[in-house]
Amino acid sequence: MLIREQVPLAPLTTLGVGGPARFFIEAGTQDEVVEAVGFAHARQLPLFVLGGGSNLVVADNGFPGVVLKVGIVDVLLLTAANGEVIFDAGAGVDWDAFVAETIEAECAGLECLSGIPGTVGGTPVQNVGAYGQEVAETIREVRALDLRSLESKTLSNAECQFSYRSSLFNTTERGRGRYIILRVSFALRQGGRPGLRYAELQEVFANDSVEPTLAEVRAAVLEIRRRKGMLIVPGEDDSRSAGSFFKNPIVPMPVFTELAARMEAHGWQLPSYPLGEGFRKLPAAWLVELAGFPRGYSKGAAGISRRHALAIINRGGATAADIMALKENIQARVKDEFEIELQPEPVFVGF
Ligand SMILES: Cc1cc2nc3c(=O)[nH]c(=O)nc-3n(C[C@H](O)[C@H](O)[C@H](O)COP(=O)(O)OP(=O)(O)OC[C@H]3O[C@@H](n4cnc5c(N)ncnc54)[C@H](O)[C@@H]3O)c2cc1C
Repeated sequence: MLIREQVPLAPLTTLGVGGPARFFIEAGTQDEVVEAVGFAHARQLPLFVLGGGSNLVVADNGFPGVVLKVGIVDVLLLTAANGEVIFDAGAGVDWDAFVAETIEAECAGLECLSGIPGTVGGTPVQNVGAYGQEVAETIREVRALDLRSLESKTLSNAECQFSYRSSLFNTTERGRGRYIILRVSFALRQGGRPGLRYAELQEVFANDSVEPTLAEVRAAVLEIRRRKGMLIVPGEDDSRSAGSFFKNPIVPMPVFTELAARMEAHGWQLPSYPLGEGFRKLPAAWLVELAGFPRGYSKGAAGISRRHALAIINRGGATAADIMALKENIQARVKDEFEIELQPEPVFVGF
């Protein structure tokens, strides 16, 4: 196991900001993960688990402890009863390559999650979702190292406590920082029908007389993502981001009604989606734009994608401080205008 020192983290993230890791370890097996944890514990250093770095903002001073990258990269295929195929993938497997593999095997359940950057191990953390699907629907189990007992443990889907962009793994009171995800198993439907729940995706196939294949749905999702700058295209400014920077706010019905009435007075129709009994989900992108941060906005080297108002981008040479200043500016203006507190989606490292 190679232990390196002062390793720059910016190139290991999609946003490309931040300083170095005091120590950096890539662990290719469960035993190496345990060894890396022992290394951090023996020196009383904080530990951070890095996946593909696609949901991170790293501080300019870097991380003063051990950054551990889980490099377990095998995929096991198990057939279960009633047409289900279980794909059991190491945490370090590239997510989109994995999705492509499941589609080649004609297994349904992940096709709408095509093109999301990062690793398999990163997906349960915020219950990754897009275009009408989220991993909570297909994750069967998560195998993780429990840092309290230093033993590995299998967590069922229910034990992961998934909800919108949330799980046991990213909620402080439930277990944030307690588990290192080693493997994730997904139960997919062999020969199953593609998920076509999202209006924008349905529109693509609206004039077709036959249902699209999983591969066609994947291609459509990749195309929509490319148009929105939500696909990593090397060298393109608009994809130098951490994805959506803010979660879509979920508000109780009375708050929604009051805000919708206020907006209507200005001639604006507030879009929203129902979310469970008595709640509405509001599009954060819309609030950001109305608060004065249109697509293409820039403040020095930080800015907003020309294709998606929710993506804060590094135009080249931005520091973490530049990104954080823009984030705070947006949050303050949205709060002033709409009395809504936007919650950031990325994880902040070393702040
Ligand atoms: C262009 C772009 C588009 C995106 N689109 C979407 C989208 O459509 N939907 C969506 O939900 N997200 C999206 N994201 C966000 C991001 O890609 C996902 O959240 C992704 O799953 C993060 O995985 P990662 O491996 O990169 O994790 P990282 O960014 O490296 O880490 C994120 C968090 O997960 C933790 N983590 C990672 N691996 C492990 C592990 N093995 N064990 C324990 N903890 C771990 C880290 O400690 C950290 O807290 C997008 C990002 C970008 C840049």
